[in-house]
Amino acid sequence: MLQITDKSKCCGCNACVQRCPKQCIVMHEDEEGFLYPQVDVTLCVDCGLCEKVCPMLAQNDVKKALQIFAAKNKNEHQRLRSSSGGIFILLAEQTIKMGGVVFGARFDKNWEVEHCYVETIEELEPLMRSKYVQSRIGNTYKEAEQFLKEGRRVLFVGTSCQILGLHKFLRKDYNNLLSVDFICHGVPSPGVWRKYLQEIKNNASLCEAAGKNTVLPFSLKFMPVITGINFREKGLGGYGWKKFGFVVHGKSPLKGDQNSVLLSTIFNENAFMKAFLYNFILRPSCYSCPVKKGKSESDLTIADFWGIETIYPDFDDDKGVGVMFVHSEKGSNILNLIDIDLLSVKYDEAIKNNPAYYTSVAVPYGRVRFWKFFNTGKTLVESTLLALFSPLSIRIKTKVVLILKKIIGVKNIYN
Ligand SMILES: Cc1cc2nc3c(=O)[nH]c(=O)nc-3n(C[C@H](O)[C@H](O)[C@H](O)COP(=O)(O)OP(=O)(O)OC[C@H]3O[C@@H](n4cnc5c(N)ncnc54)[C@H](O)[C@@H]3O)c2cc1C
Ligand code: SF4
Ligand code: SF4
Ligand code: SF4
Repeated sequence: MLQITDKSKCCGCNACVQRCPKQCIVMHEDEEGFLYPQVDVTLCVDCGLCEKVCPMLAQNDVKKALQIFAAKNKNEHQRLRSSSGGIFILLAEQTIKMGGVVFGARFDKNWEVEHCYVETIEELEPLMRSKYVQSRIGNTYKEAEQFLKEGRRVLFVGTSCQILGLHKFLRKDYNNLLSVDFICHGVPSPGVWRKYLQEIKNNASLCEAAGKNTVLPFSLKFMPVITGINFREKGLGGYGWKKFGFVVHGKSPLKGDQNSVLLSTIFNENAFMKAFLYNFILRPSCYSCPVKKGKSESDLTIADFWGIETIYPDFDDDKGVGVMFVHSEKGSNILNLIDIDLLSVKYDEAIKNNPAYYTSVAVPYGRVRFWKFFNTGKTLVESTLLALFSPLSIRIKTKVVLILKKIIGVKNIYN
C-alpha cells in the first residue's frame, strides 16, 4: 500500500487512484495547493497494485532518441495559435481524421487546468497551447484504456510523468496508442494559480503592478468575468514567440465587451510567470524529476527549440519553432502523414538552450521564503517580490549552487 512520506516521490499522476480495485485512494490538496493520494486503510486489501503502477517508484533507463528535428507547422495561422512549432495540432487533427481520440489539457469553467478527451477537430482548440499549471488527470487513463481496448486510435499528450503514469497504468503496449510528452521545466501549483486568478479579478492595484501594458482599470465593485487566458500570446502586443506573452481577456461590467484585455504582460513583468520560472511554486517532485532524458516511454517528445536563431537562423521567423525527439517507429511513422517542415538536428544542438530535457532545476532559497509569505496571507505579487529579494549572502550562495550544478550536476542542495 502506498504511503507518501516524501512528497518529492509523488508527481500527482493519479495512476494509483484509477487502478485501485477498492477505490480506497482519494487525492487531497496540501498547503502548497498540490494533490496527493491518501489511502483509506480500512478498505485497502493490500493487493499492491497502486505501487505497481506508480511511475515514481522504479526508474527506466535513459533512452536515446532515434531522430531529432527542428519542426514547424506549415500552416502559419495554426502555428501562431500554438505555443511553439504547432506540432500538437497537426498530430491531433491527424488522429481524429483516422477516427481516433485526443487527450490533452484544457481550462475548466473556473480556469483551472484539467485533462480531458475530444473526438472532433472543432473541439481541439481548448487543448492547444501550454497552460503553466499542473493539470488534474482525473479518470483520463481509464477512459484512454477503454478507447484502446475498443481499437480506437488514441493520442495522449502530457508531462513526462503523466505519460509514464499512463504507460504504467496500462501495463501493456497498445499499437493504437501514440503518447507524446514535452520537455518539462516543472509544473506550478494549482492552488497558487487559483489564488492568482482571484487576485487578477479582485485587485485593481495588482493589475497596475503586474505590468505597464495593463489596459483596463476596474474596482472591486465591478468584478470582471474571465473569458480567455493565453500563456503564450504571439500576436497581440507584438510579443512574438520568445517573450511568453501572458494575456487575460474578460468581460468587464465597465465596458461590457467580451474581449477586453484585463492583463497583458511578458514573462519577466508578470508575477505568476516569475514565480514559475524562478522555481518558487513547482511541485516538489519537479526538483528531482525521474523521467527526463527519454525515460517516459513516450513516442515523441515536443518542445520549444530555444536558441534556433543562433544555430539555424534561416529556420526562425519568431512565429514559433518546435524541437521533436522521435523515440519509436510509431512516432516516426506519423511524421509521414502530417504537413510539417522538418530539419534534422544533432542532440547537442537541440538541448543546448533547453536543460530541462536532461536535468531538474535546483530548489531555490526563495522557495521557502515564498511559501512563508504566501501562506500567511500575502498576495502572489507580494510573495514573489519578497522571495526574489533575498539577502546578499544567500544570493551569492544561490549563484554558486547554479554554477556548481552546471559544472557537476549538483541538485537539491537545500534539501
Ligand atoms: C508545465 C509545462 C512546462 C514546460 N516546460 C518546457 C520547457 O522547459 N522547455 C520547452 O522547450 N518546452 C516546455 N514546455 C512545452 C512547450 O510549452 C510547448 O507545449 C511545446 O513546445 C508544444 O508546443 P506546440 O506548439 O507543438 O503545441 P501546443 O498547441 O502548445 O500544445 C501543447 C500540448 O500540451 C498540452 N498541455 C498544455 N498544458 C498542459 C499541462 N499543464 N499539463 C499537461 N499537458 C499540457 C496540451 O493539451 C497540448 O496537447 C512546457 C509545457 C508545460 C505545459
Ligand atoms: S494496496 Fe490495493 S487496495 Fe490497497 S490502496 Fe493499493 S491498490 Fe488499493
Ligand atoms: S506518483 Fe502517481 S501513482 Fe505514484 S503515488 Fe503519486 S499519484 Fe499515485
Ligand atoms: S518536471 Fe518531471 S515530475 Fe515535474 S511535472 Fe515535469 S515531468 Fe513531472
